[in-house]
Amino acid sequence: MLNVNSNIQFIKGVGEKRARLFNSLGIFDVDSLIHFYPRKYEDWSKTKTVKEALDNEVVCIRATMITPVKESMIRKGLTLYKCRFSDGESIVDVTIFNNKYLAKSLRIYDDYLLFGKIEKNFTKASMSAPKIEKSDTGINIHPIYSATGKLTSKAILKVMRTALDEIGEIEETLTEEIKNKYNLISLDKAIRYIHFPRDEKDIVDARNRLIFEELLTLQLGLLKLKGNKKRQSAYKITSDYTDEFIQLLPFSLTNAQKKAMKECIDDLEGEHPMSRLIQGDVGSGKTAVAAGVLYTVIKNGYQGALMAPTEILAKQHYESLSKLLDGTGIRTGLLTGSVKASEKREIKSLLINGEIDLLIGTHALIQNDVEFKRLGLVITDEQHRFGVKQRAELANKGDGIHTLVMSATPIPRTLGLILYGDLDISIIDELPPGRQEIRTDVVNSSYNNRLYKFIKNAVDRGEQCYIICPAVDENELGVKSAEQYADELSEGAFNGYNLGLLHGKLKPKEKESVMKAFVDGDIKILVATTVVEVGVDVPNATIMVIENAERFGLSQLHQLRGRIGRGNKKSYCVLVSDSESENAQNRLMTMKRYTDGFKIADEDLKIRGPGDFFGEKQHGLPDLKIADMVDDVETLRLTQHCAKEILSNDFNLEHSENKNLSKRIDLMFKNIEY
Ligand code: ADP
Ligand code: MG
Repeated sequence: MLNVNSNIQFIKGVGEKRARLFNSLGIFDVDSLIHFYPRKYEDWSKTKTVKEALDNEVVCIRATMITPVKESMIRKGLTLYKCRFSDGESIVDVTIFNNKYLAKSLRIYDDYLLFGKIEKNFTKASMSAPKIEKSDTGINIHPIYSATGKLTSKAILKVMRTALDEIGEIEETLTEEIKNKYNLISLDKAIRYIHFPRDEKDIVDARNRLIFEELLTLQLGLLKLKGNKKRQSAYKITSDYTDEFIQLLPFSLTNAQKKAMKECIDDLEGEHPMSRLIQGDVGSGKTAVAAGVLYTVIKNGYQGALMAPTEILAKQHYESLSKLLDGTGIRTGLLTGSVKASEKREIKSLLINGEIDLLIGTHALIQNDVEFKRLGLVITDEQHRFGVKQRAELANKGDGIHTLVMSATPIPRTLGLILYGDLDISIIDELPPGRQEIRTDVVNSSYNNRLYKFIKNAVDRGEQCYIICPAVDENELGVKSAEQYADELSEGAFNGYNLGLLHGKLKPKEKESVMKAFVDGDIKILVATTVVEVGVDVPNATIMVIENAERFGLSQLHQLRGRIGRGNKKSYCVLVSDSESENAQNRLMTMKRYTDGFKIADEDLKIRGPGDFFGEKQHGLPDLKIADMVDDVETLRLTQHCAKEILSNDFNLEHSENKNLSKRIDLMFKNIEY
């Protein structure tokens, strides 16, 4: 007796040799077979007459075979079988290639359905290698599977039929309650409908159920991995100092900033520690929100930490926050890898004695030997630049500590929902007033001279410019390197202009002084690598030129572009690319078309697919069989909610009604390293 655990080779008609073909599709047992879903469907229910069909249309024709099959061998390996059909009104000539089995099965005067492309001219109609079935099979919708060479879609379907007929009812994974609440059909029905739908509705119902289950499984697995046990808050905040903080700012907050800050403060006052993500496009003013939240926590007597992914950014945060908080009595400190050992010791001792209230730094500040007296809140800026591991380390820094992560857009909404499934999310969807839209252009290097002139004009007006290169030094032909290009420009086009060079290979002190000179406006044109990608804020910079733009991901380009348009002057982003690849040009045009980072990230995800999205697959997400990260975002939201509900009653999924679901999670995550 066949069951879901049976090896594929024990299904009638499979055997050892065929089993290997199934194996190559990732199918080893009956369970993986029935979860191997059709790639698409062909609808054979809406038949047309030959007369109704258009030339070259893919159609289904109901017709009677009116001549016997004529066989002709063209050459070795190519045999044609020809026969004629009539739909009662018109004739259609059919040619079958090599398929002796099919040709021999056809009977004259029997009725058939012919499915395929029809070619018509004035006098006759013909079909070449159509799919042919008896007209009375009762199957309207034909599933199509991703086949491999020797294993056709039809063969898979046949094995599927046998398996589903023999295994009996498929065990349910979801409770009645969940099925009712989310309007889902049973798993047994869903599996049967997905392979053998009677009509469109069956497919829709089956997909709804299976997509829901897949995303739910994914969410549960991630939530379990993250150990989302809600602890008691150890650092409850009793007074809200937002109003006092707002007085310090030189501007008034946008409504979106106020809302995000309010959501954070509500968290801080709640029973559980805050664990929240602020997603806001570049330039939306996340730093001010972070500062406000830190202010309240510190005024309540705790320490706060702000972690940035690069020294440059940490330094910039340190400087602007120190200035903002000057006179409030809040004591700030900076801790990065390049801080001198003696200074580090000093900072650490101040910290443990509670004499620093706000520590700003790179990931140096989560190292083991950094101890706080009463750390209440850790904020991570530009979260996407930190690995999953660092985030976990952070969470371990203190039990019941409040955490806030901030990210711009490289993560599309959908992936964000998954990756940060354990976090509450605030979205800042509004830019501060007075921002000018950035004009983006895509050009090739034949525009260089005009571009240089354009830059000089801007600099002469007192503005500044970034020129980004994909590499530090010369390595590949045709790829601009920051070092060489900076030399070339300072001796050539920008002779007499103050030009700076910034890249990751410089010593921290050098980086710092270059950046400072740019911030102060001494350096007018900064040739840099993507080290300036995150965070840096120089509102006077109005031009961003990106060389070899095709080499960057869309989200990265968007981040880079976010460095300009931060003040009230009109800003320009120029993407320079000599690539003639259509894909590259399309991607760059996406940048011209869209300014909304979420939109760009979604496009990026579509173009690259979730697997590639993070480059090194570091996101650690399992492959999905039926759900789509972009299209099924609504379901994703529902399942996120549902997963939390399930875990709140049964965190380890030990209750009998959750056992099967638990198995599915193990199966989905068995190859995932986290
Ligand atoms: P991001 O969200 O990219 O981190 P920042 O926090 O660096 O953005 O803010 C970008 C710029 O906008 C900064 O110069 C900041 O001072 C300014 N800014 C932030 N909020 C406002 C606001 N409400 N009104 C005007 N300017 C603002
Ligand atoms: Mg920022």
